[in-house]
Amino acid sequence: MNPIVVFDLDGVLLDFAASWAQCASWELGRPIQKVSDAYDLQERYALSARECHRVWSAFHRDTWWERVPSHDSAWDTVCNVEAAGGSIWAVTNVDAHWVHARAISLGGLIPSGRIICLGEDASAHHRAEILEALHAQAFVDDQVANVNAAVGIIAAPVLLHQSYQGQEEPAHGVTVIDDLLDFPVVIESLFKAAQSA
Ligand SMILES: [Mg+2]
Repeated sequence: MNPIVVFDLDGVLLDFAASWAQCASWELGRPIQKVSDAYDLQERYALSARECHRVWSAFHRDTWWERVPSHDSAWDTVCNVEAAGGSIWAVTNVDAHWVHARAISLGGLIPSGRIICLGEDASAHHRAEILEALHAQAFVDDQVANVNAAVGIIAAPVLLHQSYQGQEEPAHGVTVIDDLLDFPVVIESLFKAAQSA
């Protein structure tokens, strides 16, 4: 069986932050500046709780989920993993009714049937349970807690380092990369093992 390789979407394949900041500028009627590397959007863009709520409402109302651009390295990375024999899936913490919007953002890179929407409040533990149920062998995410939760469950948990403030340390067994294009190289041994099995 081809190794199942799972990608997180926002911050890995898709540039959610750029899209959300654009929506914020549009909705609030002023330029939005990133003031910190906080993962939390309100803190990152120095917004009030009320402003942040307004932006989220606009993001959902105007279906910005359909217009989240992909990162430059997304297509090459996914195509390289697929060419090497990987079976590609995605996981994302949004509600299930956004699955088609997510597929539209991905522009055909991953079909909606292979995008698992966990719900916006899904925990790292729940994400790891889904990876286990899928029999995933490799997983890449930009949140340390999500990758740490997958250690011991899948063969290759990989963190795409994004310099967010206040994240826990990567656990022993996590591979850290700075460039998504390194992901196919990191998981190459999985494919070799699958081919020789
Ligand atoms: Mg993410």
